[in-house]
Amino acid sequence: SYHAAIGNGMPGWYDEGRAHAWLPYSQMKTAAPPLPVVGTRGSRILLADGRELVDGVASWWTACHGYNHPHIRAAVAAQLDTMPHVMLGGLLHEPAARLATRLATLLPGDLDHVFFSDSGSVAVEVAMKMAVQSWINRGVRGRTRFVAFRGGYHGDTTGTMAVCDPDEGMHSLFRGLLPEHLIVDLPVDEARTEALDRLLAARADEIAGILVEPLVQGAGGMLFHDAEVLRTLRRLADRHDVLLIFDEIFVGFGRTGTLFACEAADVVPDIVTVGKALTGGTLPLAATVASRRVFGAFWSDDPMHALMHGPTYMGNPLACAAALASIDLFAREPRLDQVRAIETQLGAGLASCRGLPGVVDVRVRGAIGVVELDRIDIAALKARFVEQGVYIRPFGRIVYLTPALTIEADDLARLTDAIVAVLSEP
Ligand code: PLP
Repeated sequence: SYHAAIGNGMPGWYDEGRAHAWLPYSQMKTAAPPLPVVGTRGSRILLADGRELVDGVASWWTACHGYNHPHIRAAVAAQLDTMPHVMLGGLLHEPAARLATRLATLLPGDLDHVFFSDSGSVAVEVAMKMAVQSWINRGVRGRTRFVAFRGGYHGDTTGTMAVCDPDEGMHSLFRGLLPEHLIVDLPVDEARTEALDRLLAARADEIAGILVEPLVQGAGGMLFHDAEVLRTLRRLADRHDVLLIFDEIFVGFGRTGTLFACEAADVVPDIVTVGKALTGGTLPLAATVASRRVFGAFWSDDPMHALMHGPTYMGNPLACAAALASIDLFAREPRLDQVRAIETQLGAGLASCRGLPGVVDVRVRGAIGVVELDRIDIAALKARFVEQGVYIRPFGRIVYLTPALTIEADDLARLTDAIVAVLSEP
């Protein structure tokens, strides 16, 4: 029915392109054919046959201001006229300089040194290399492991797969390729805090840092934890002298109700990664931001103490211009108030899922709404959602919403109503 639903009005590029374009996380033989999209507007995805789907996931959590915000488009267009790209090798341009300054100002504490890259996975890889090399530069050898957490997701490159939850199906194939890190339970209670404390006491001399998604573990299962967990991690990292890295790629830029999740815990990590909503969902860009202490380990007369990393397109001027415009919008428009309104509406709109058969949990934090099921037929659910006029992508045993922070109340109601309706079906 998924296919039937898009049977008419197929554009010419579609069939030929389908034979060549290899899509992410898709069994190309059996997956429902991709929907032919011809445009985006606000919280809507426009299909070739004229239908508009209300987007429940904001293009993997990036399009925080909705699609095609005029302020971002104007900034990118102006930059396109001046300089679409120049490398950062030995050069510095105004958009990268301004964005580095802006991020250093916005992030708490002394998170002051900004290293750009072009995807979240690479920003996390850079954070890991930065942590490891900072120890080497300080004359400490052997600290090459990370403590990361069950339920975590940090990317799908080789380095980052190794710090994801190892039980996660999609990465388990590659286990033989991956270095071993220490993947443990989040210190959500006394017993787990003590276990982590003991682990760090025993093995700190091989540990470069602790890596965590603050407040919400996203792609690993949309699991929430309290701000207190982050304060515990800060305390343990300080006690055992290991670095604390927050991966804010999902939660950064308002998703949980503060601009950065670390603000809610009043904790300053040693390194933070941002990506996804950094450009308001327009261009690929990510950043790894280091504290003065971490940067200080690289500040040296020894050229071998330089950070040994440099993606070709790092700090692309178009992407930096988009990010600056996106950050403007957090100041100019009432985004965080909108998040609070979304949180309230998600809570009310998803509440009636609680009694439905198969529903294990319903949880909401900021602009994230989650319905956890005991089992799930992902393909069937996706198709039913499209039939309801909404774009929602369940994964694992999770149906979730992470809409644009600008979504209209009516559109948000369509999303929550569709979930209630589809999950109510026998
Ligand atoms: N870190 C977190 C917390 C993420 O949610 C993701 C993507 O889902 C990544 C890293 C990887 O980012 P990217 O897909 O841009 O490589």
